[in-house]
Amino acid sequence: MRVNKIALNGWRNYGWESVEFDPGTNVITGSNAQGKTNLLEAVYMLACGRSFRTRFDRETVGFDYPSAELLADVSAHERAQMIRIVIRPGQGKKIEVNGVKKTAAELGETLNVVLFCPDDLNLIKEGAAVRRRLLDNAIGQIRPKYAELLAEFNRLYEHKTRILKDWKDKPSLLDTLDEFSDALCRISAQLIRYRAAFTARLDEAAGPIHREFSGEGEKLEIRYSTVSTVTDAFAPAREIYYQICEHQEKHRQAELDSQQCLTGAHKDDLEIFINGRSARAFASQGQTRTAALSVKLAEREIFLDETGEYPILLLDDVLSELDEGRQSFVLNRLGGGQTLISCCEDEGISSRTGGKVLVVEKGRIR
Ligand code: ATP
Ligand code: MG
Repeated sequence: MRVNKIALNGWRNYGWESVEFDPGTNVITGSNAQGKTNLLEAVYMLACGRSFRTRFDRETVGFDYPSAELLADVSAHERAQMIRIVIRPGQGKKIEVNGVKKTAAELGETLNVVLFCPDDLNLIKEGAAVRRRLLDNAIGQIRPKYAELLAEFNRLYEHKTRILKDWKDKPSLLDTLDEFSDALCRISAQLIRYRAAFTARLDEAAGPIHREFSGEGEKLEIRYSTVSTVTDAFAPAREIYYQICEHQEKHRQAELDSQQCLTGAHKDDLEIFINGRSARAFASQGQTRTAALSVKLAEREIFLDETGEYPILLLDDVLSELDEGRQSFVLNRLGGGQTLISCCEDEGISSRTGGKVLVVEKGRIR
């Protein structure tokens, strides 16, 4: 899949601008604060229906504009498609594919992206939230149902957290606590099955990539970890649900005391091992970076497997963070799909990829 052309109107620092992309590699270059990341963010929005930088759509609207609009001509699933997104603060977001109204979750049926930014290089060493985000973003794109469940989970989680925070001042809130806990257990069970299945595929795909990438034949393993009472994350949702309820019962009092939600899929994590040892605890900085890259490239393979086409790869400022060997590995691994690479200066990247070079200056693209 690829974006052939995108027109931006009032998006971030872009007035009216449009650009045609190469079906292969596109190097987006320019000085700081010119609009490189903003352009990648626009493409991400086409696939995910939201930004990767902010939870608030209104922030993507240009400072002096009443609304932001993206119009893109994309090729996916062997046909030309048109995606249009309009964000009008106060009135929400309108999404259309070929003139038909869609939800953000449904965009994944048309276009997929894998984003790789400097934060992702810390995927292994950072806290669990980063790894959960990877799961949520990837699964959400290929399984619209997952995105719906996750949104519902977050809504219930916030509500339950509020009850736990406020119950001491307002004991009547406790009347609904068990109801929320039960609903959270139910949805957690479903999320857990999706996550376990995806992690198994990630493990399978990342292993061979990492073996080659590390040059040392290192063995990378990725395992899913969730609520401690769940013995088999691949079991039917009902069984998992019962096991989470068991955890919930044991921790009900602790939740009231600590005023925190302790049971549910919100604490899930990925455990990553290199040669059988926890990468988080023992791997060197170079090793964890290499592993992070392997995981990201594996994500791309899973999309290919799933949809028959490579997703668009967005590399935001990440190549400059890598040494030459790793840069070459990434660039050589890109065969097949469309890639948008942003970097501060060209740094010879365009000549090594043979891609199209787009120079961004103050919200204009040359
Ligand atoms: P860097 O190399 O530093 O990463 P960049 O080219 O990726 O730079 P962007 O993140 O795309 O820069 O931002 C370009 C400019 O857009 C910044 O100066 C930023 O302040 C501005 N900007 C961000 N949001 C908006 C908005 N809603 N309206 C107008 N301008 C905005
Ligand atoms: Mg940037």
